[in-house]
Amino acid sequence: MNILLIGSGGRESAFAWKLTQSPLCQQLFIAPGNPGTAQFGTNIDIKVTDFEGHKAFTLANNIDMVLVGPEEPLVKGIHDFFLNDEQLRNIPVIGPQQEGAQLEGSKDFSKQFMNRHNIPTAASKTFTEATLQEGLTYLATAGLPIVLKADGLAAGKGVLICTSLEEAQQELTEMLTMAKFGEASAKVVIEQFLQGIELSVFVLSDGTNYKVLPEAKDYKRIGEGDTGLNTGGMGSVSPVPFADKVFMDKVHERVIIPTVEGLKKDNIPYKGFIFIGLISCDGEPFVIEYNCRMGDPETESVLPRIESDLADLLKGVAEGNLDTKELIISNKFAATVVCVAGGYPGEYMKNDVITGLENVRGSIAFHAGTYADGDDIKTSGGRVLAITSLQDTMFNALQQATLDASRIYYDGKYFRKDIGFDLL
Ligand code: AMP
Repeated sequence: MNILLIGSGGRESAFAWKLTQSPLCQQLFIAPGNPGTAQFGTNIDIKVTDFEGHKAFTLANNIDMVLVGPEEPLVKGIHDFFLNDEQLRNIPVIGPQQEGAQLEGSKDFSKQFMNRHNIPTAASKTFTEATLQEGLTYLATAGLPIVLKADGLAAGKGVLICTSLEEAQQELTEMLTMAKFGEASAKVVIEQFLQGIELSVFVLSDGTNYKVLPEAKDYKRIGEGDTGLNTGGMGSVSPVPFADKVFMDKVHERVIIPTVEGLKKDNIPYKGFIFIGLISCDGEPFVIEYNCRMGDPETESVLPRIESDLADLLKGVAEGNLDTKELIISNKFAATVVCVAGGYPGEYMKNDVITGLENVRGSIAFHAGTYADGDDIKTSGGRVLAITSLQDTMFNALQQATLDASRIYYDGKYFRKDIGFDLL
């Protein structure tokens, strides 16, 4: 197969690394990719939402399958674009159509979906500018803390946890009447706060059959000890020790099966990854969110634990026979430590030369925000590199990934040295 992979982050570097291990993968192209993906395939300079660009490239290069990494092209309908085009119709796209992508694209849609299918989640109500007064009254009767969520995509920034009524009412007003998160906050979901510990579960679905991939835990805060501002993700680990058989059986019965069956009942075709953000409240799983694609930096810890051929699994998704494919998961432990740019998640440094990549010995350095400038590799994004190690014990994986992260240099480099150590 000639595969077109869309995206340019650490997640896509991990996908590229895994796909090129497959004998089924003849040529791999990454649009637009980064210097890390270029180690495994050919980068092409096409933006993730340039559907016409993808079309022209796909037809000119005999692409057999398209794998979409990030949510934006899915929510904007890349899969529908292929299905509605005479010439592209038969080229499978891995990633849901626009309607299925609404599980991530609209919090209100996903809450309604969960309620309709009795999937455990926090109690919630949705408000618009027209119902602002009701929303303010609702807040006055709800307990604290309370969670406000912009309905649409807000680059991971649209969720506010408010600890006072005044704060919650002001935020709700700003979101609904002053477009605090632009179009995304034209609707706001007000949700009960759940206390617990979070993890992410990943399901690969062909619309009928599904496989449960390794679970992972990510670390969102910039500071050690989970302090400071939220980021795109500072690290991840897989497996997650508290996701034992008893817990995962509950997740399977109460969340995974009703989700896959719910999509079928609602006639929502879904071929792709379902990322289920869960919170365990005293051992009981509740869904915090769905995403319509793999997580970043969870993918970097999940894929190294999949021993089976990823391209073959994706072929199963495309052909609707995922049930005939084998999914073998390694018993080893994966840890990912993300090196970020100075200043991140605020305004951050860029264009700094990265050295020391050759000293990474017991880990893989997945590129995220990097670019090539002549012979130099330089920083371009907030999250620069994801350093992943796969080892026989969790401790060794964490220690090795942390050690290898420390072997990389660039001005302003920062990484958390405590990723996963709370789980030991
Ligand atoms: P989301 O974008 O919905 O995943 O929310 C972002 C983050 O906000 C989550 O990863 C949680 O840490 C937190 N969060 C969201 N909803 C809740 C909730 N109902 N209770 C507690 N924390 C939440």
